[in-house]
Amino acid sequence: MVRAILTDIEGTTSSISFVKEVLFPYAAHYLPAYVREHADEPVVAEQLQAVRVAIKEPEADTDRVIAVLLNWIREDRKATPLKTLQGMVWKHGYQSGAYQAHVYPDAAQKLREWHAQGLPIYIYSSGSIAAQKLFFKYSGAGDLTPLFSGYFDTTTGPKQEQASYAAIVQAIGLPAQEILFLSDVAAELDAAKAAGLQTCWLVRPQDNPQNPAVCAQGPHPAVTSFNEIRVNP
Ligand SMILES: [Mg+2]
Repeated sequence: MVRAILTDIEGTTSSISFVKEVLFPYAAHYLPAYVREHADEPVVAEQLQAVRVAIKEPEADTDRVIAVLLNWIREDRKATPLKTLQGMVWKHGYQSGAYQAHVYPDAAQKLREWHAQGLPIYIYSSGSIAAQKLFFKYSGAGDLTPLFSGYFDTTTGPKQEQASYAAIVQAIGLPAQEILFLSDVAAELDAAKAAGLQTCWLVRPQDNPQNPAVCAQGPHPAVTSFNEIRVNP
């Protein structure tokens, strides 16, 4: 019996390439102008100050801080001030219609069906909760946020650790074995299964070169789209 769904985003509901090929380049391109334009706003000023502290250059001017941020993007550094500023630039991009988040049609349709059946749906992604909400609010499949009962990010814990799933089970308030976790990453599924959740491996040919039939021989049922996921048949 499945009484709640917990799903990953990248490679699961959505293509990996949208984040890599659209979101990150957009942030890199517009971050300098955005920072210069909004440098006096408290939230932005706070992030710039955090960068100065991190690099131990209290006198660094805005141009220097921007150069550091761009370098952090190239290094894929997960620094909080960078993530916060990227989030602000992405929000601006979504709101201005520069792009819409990608959601596979099969995923959007199934999520709507499950929601209509009264199944609570939760998101667990390494992107911040604020970024997750923007993603689904401005998706190519429309505003999907009304479908979700809650969001989890890495403030709950890393996605490949059993304890993170135990914490999510606590927060959802259902027995672990009644929660179905969907992901494209085997190590995440392993951690969820160890915490007692049901699992399903999304092996989308667009995102994952592995053979789904081979994947299905492992401990997790494997599917190539949400259409193949059977919940309480
Ligand atoms: Mg993923």
